[in-house]
Amino acid sequence: MRVRKKPWAEPYIKEHQEYIVLDPQSYLGKWQDRFAKKQPLHVEIGTGKGQFIIQMAKKYPDVNFIGIELQESVIATALRSFLEDPTPNLQFVLTDGGDVNEFFTAHEIEKIYLNFSDPWPKTRHAKRRLTSPGFLKSYQDVLKTDGEIEFKTDNRGLFEYSLGSFNNYGMQFEYVSLDLHKSPEAEDNVETEYEQKFSPQGPIYKLVAKFNS
Ligand code: SAM
Repeated sequence: MRVRKKPWAEPYIKEHQEYIVLDPQSYLGKWQDRFAKKQPLHVEIGTGKGQFIIQMAKKYPDVNFIGIELQESVIATALRSFLEDPTPNLQFVLTDGGDVNEFFTAHEIEKIYLNFSDPWPKTRHAKRRLTSPGFLKSYQDVLKTDGEIEFKTDNRGLFEYSLGSFNNYGMQFEYVSLDLHKSPEAEDNVETEYEQKFSPQGPIYKLVAKFNS
């Protein structure tokens, strides 16, 4: 979903470049330098306004998190929320996360989160879905051998497509829920902004999968 341009966003981002990266290629193999401590790296692609990744960074101080978002106005809002109470283990990146293998090196990442990714419902747009095989190849390049993808959505069509796409790619499923909020895992679940908005209308689907080594 496209968001209206916010005039304050660009100067705000430029002012806070210690927390947001605008030239991700220059950190190839050096992402740990952006953090106070070297620790496992988890990346969210399509981080939106940052609710999930900001809470995750607070909940798991022994993990370094990176939130990637394509839209300047959206990531500026995430950055502004984060700066209300910043933690040393979260960085944002303004870029297209589909190209992760252009700015992360092989096996650099432990986990990739895809939360409420745009569904691109038309068949002719299937290649744009962040769970389509072209993107899975990029994720495989940068994930550790036993690294995981965690995917949540409220969109049944996208979930079914993603199950098929991961399965056809030869991935191994670690966890599948057709109603996350009614499962025992709900207790540990960190909600995204879309999840909070849409869960009253129906179930939240979740899967966790890894590439076979
Ligand atoms: N993850 C958030 C949540 O669950 O509330 C936001 C979900 S919103 C439907 C999808 C977000 O992904 C949008 O902010 C969009 O700009 C972003 N996005 C879509 N494709 C992307 C890509 N290739 N790289 C980075 N961000 C992307």
